[in-house]
Amino acid sequence: MLKDLFTKKSQKSHHEKGYAVINVPKEQPSGQPQEAPKAQPEMQKPQAVLDENHTACPSCSAVIAKQALSDNLGVCPECSHHTRLGARRRIEITADKGSFKEYDTGIKTVNALDFASYDDKLREAKEKSGLDEAVVTGECSVNGQKCVICAMDSLFMMGSMGSVVGEKISRAVEKAIEKRLPVVIFSTSGGARMQEGMLSLMQMAKTSAALGKLDDAGLLYISVLTDPTTGGVTASFAMLGDIIVAEPKALIGFAGPRVIEQTIRQKLPEGFQRAEFLQDKGFVDTIVPRGDMKDFIGKLLAIHSTGGGLDDK
Ligand SMILES: [Zn+2]
Repeated sequence: MLKDLFTKKSQKSHHEKGYAVINVPKEQPSGQPQEAPKAQPEMQKPQAVLDENHTACPSCSAVIAKQALSDNLGVCPECSHHTRLGARRRIEITADKGSFKEYDTGIKTVNALDFASYDDKLREAKEKSGLDEAVVTGECSVNGQKCVICAMDSLFMMGSMGSVVGEKISRAVEKAIEKRLPVVIFSTSGGARMQEGMLSLMQMAKTSAALGKLDDAGLLYISVLTDPTTGGVTASFAMLGDIIVAEPKALIGFAGPRVIEQTIRQKLPEGFQRAEFLQDKGFVDTIVPRGDMKDFIGKLLAIHSTGGGLDDK
C-alpha cells in the first residue's frame, strides 16, 4: 500500500498498514441495521480533509483534488481504491448520455411501525443523499444496449432495504419482464432496514420472487456488487444474478467480519469477505475495475441480446 506519501497531518498507528481500508463515511447514519459492516478499529481512516477542494484517500491517505477523484470515477489515482459512489453518479457513468429514464419517483417511505426517530433519520438521509430513498431505478442504454438499471446509494441510511427499496426494485424487474429487457443492479447496502422490522425482511422474498419471474421469462440479470454489499441484500437479490460482478476489494458478506469473529471466536483469514476472496471461493464470477465496468456490462448485454432463442416463450 502506498501510504503516508503526502500526509503528515494524521498520526496514525502502525497497525494500519497492509490492509485495504473500507471507506466508511464518517457521518454514517446511525439508523443502520445491526448487520451493517463497521470499519475495524485498525482500519479507521484519517479524517483529514485539507480544504474544501481536496480530500484524503481513505485507503492510502494521499491527498487528492476532489475534481480529479471525480474525473477518475471516484477511484484513487494513487492506489486504485474504489470510493463509494452515489446512485445518480453511478447511473451517470454507466448509462449512455441522455438515455436514462427514471421509474417510480413518487413512492414515499412511511414510518409504518412508528419507530422512534425513524422520521428524523429519513429526513437526514434525504438531505445527505438528495434522494427520496436508497435506490434509483429506471431504464437506459449501456453502449447502445437497452436495459433496466437499479443503483443503490449508501448515503441513504447505508443503503438499507426498506419497503420502498424492495418495491422499487421489484417494480423495475417487473417492468423489465414486460418490456423484455435485461436487468442490471448495482448493490451497496448494510442490509435490511431495522426501523421497518418484518416489513423490511419481506422485501427479500419480494425481490427474489420478481427475479424468479425474470428468470422464467428467460431474461438476463447482471448483479454488480459494490462496497459494501451485506445483510439482507446479499441474502436476496444481490446474489441471484445470472452473472455476478464485483468491484475490486468490495466488502461482500452477510454479517460483518467483527460479528463473525466474536461469534466463532476465531480470527478470520486475511481478505475475508473481500471481492477477491469471494471470487476465489466461487461466489463472484469476476471483478471489474470501475473504469472498465460500463464497457464490460455493455459487452455482456450485447452477447446476451442475440441468439438466446428464448424470445418465443
Ligand atoms: Zn489511495
